[in-house]
Amino acid sequence: MDHFDAIVIGAGVIGCSVAFHLAQFGARRVLVLERGGIGTGTTSQSSGILRTHYTVPENVALARASWSAFENFQAYVGDDEASAGLVRCGYLIASPDGPKLGALRAGIDGQCRQGITVHELDAKQATELLPIARFDDAALIGYEPDAGFADPYLVASGFARSARRLGAEIVEGADVQMLLHTDGKVTGVETSHGRFTADTVVSAQNVWARDIERWTGIPTPVAAERHSVLALEGPQPYTNRMPVYKDLGCAGMLYYRSYGGAQMLVSEGVAGETLQAPDNEQGPIEMDYILDVGAQVAERFPVYETAGLASSWTGVYDVTPDWNPVLGRVADMHGLIVAYGFSGHGFKLSPAVGRVLAQEALGLATDVSLAPYSLERFRTGALLTGKYGVGAVS
Ligand SMILES: Cc1cc2nc3c(=O)[nH]c(=O)nc-3n(C[C@H](O)[C@H](O)[C@H](O)COP(=O)(O)OP(=O)(O)OC[C@H]3O[C@@H](n4cnc5c(N)ncnc54)[C@H](O)[C@@H]3O)c2cc1C
Repeated sequence: MDHFDAIVIGAGVIGCSVAFHLAQFGARRVLVLERGGIGTGTTSQSSGILRTHYTVPENVALARASWSAFENFQAYVGDDEASAGLVRCGYLIASPDGPKLGALRAGIDGQCRQGITVHELDAKQATELLPIARFDDAALIGYEPDAGFADPYLVASGFARSARRLGAEIVEGADVQMLLHTDGKVTGVETSHGRFTADTVVSAQNVWARDIERWTGIPTPVAAERHSVLALEGPQPYTNRMPVYKDLGCAGMLYYRSYGGAQMLVSEGVAGETLQAPDNEQGPIEMDYILDVGAQVAERFPVYETAGLASSWTGVYDVTPDWNPVLGRVADMHGLIVAYGFSGHGFKLSPAVGRVLAQEALGLATDVSLAPYSLERFRTGALLTGKYGVGAVS
């Protein structure tokens, strides 16, 4: 039987980040158990967008700290060969008069208060940045230059590689079948590879976090929700120099970015299809859905009216009732730390989340307070709902 300082369940971008930071803070024996391969869970399905535009101040703080890591990824993980695949193209967000305008105003003001550089643009300035889109209906346009997108798989595997270099063990193909606990204290895990003991277990299981409820009886309010992502090929390219764009004026709250330097990646920012069981297998994308999204795209990007579908995939969000994650210790199980419920916006937070959870696991002061992210909020009603209401923009 092997004993570890900390065991991490799941080697998605969150689990790998936790493991890297644990090792960096000096934890000597760290074990990561992953039933598939590194980054092959929902991380590999992500759109990879990075921005600090949030209306929840703690999310702004985590996203800002994470941006510094993405921007200097090689130095951050201490590996000259690492790459986050970062494209710093900026983030545009626009709203017409209507229900989302107040939230956008609040988000921009909040970012400014937290020291983030955000510019308010007029339609002409926005068109200069994204000439294939129209902004004639916009009542407010925010532009965040320090934003863009990165490659979630590269980031997860970069964290994993550096965690290993610092001494962490990452075992792929190892299914955790049970959390072991006695008298309300974690003692280890039972796995397809045998039993491992530790006083600290970090669950970074995403939609599969419901295992915790099965293993401990502690409620785990997370639903698996499937979303579709489309890559469109239009008559004019959506280049890497063009910013990510969030359209608060359309029914699907669509977000857009360049894909491969020429195609347009587009996906919805509203609720998806709830799955009965956690599963990130590919699901169907109906023609009616493609036509509906295509019509919204053509409304905003008239030149894309004749665009073709180049590729598509589905991905699964781990959604909590307020669309924000549960992070930190679980009150009724000493030694259990959780990170689930990223609700479609966890990649941009992953470096800082890994760092604060490692701090929490090692009894260090956390850079950002974890109190607002506690599981308790669903009992007390102190929800972390952002000004946009439910949805990944939060
Ligand atoms: C379509 C889509 C688009 C997205 N777009 C964005 C975006 O633009 N920007 C952004 O910031 N975020 C985005 N996200 C969200 C972001 O990608 C996720 O929040 C993040 O990747 C989650 O990482 P994770 O490590 O929590 O989960 P995962 O990558 O799912 O990792 C969890 C791992 O745990 C393993 N596991 C679970 N249970 C067990 C067990 N019992 N034993 C062993 N292993 C186990 C799984 O196999 C899995 O590999 C998007 C997500 C999707 C699906």
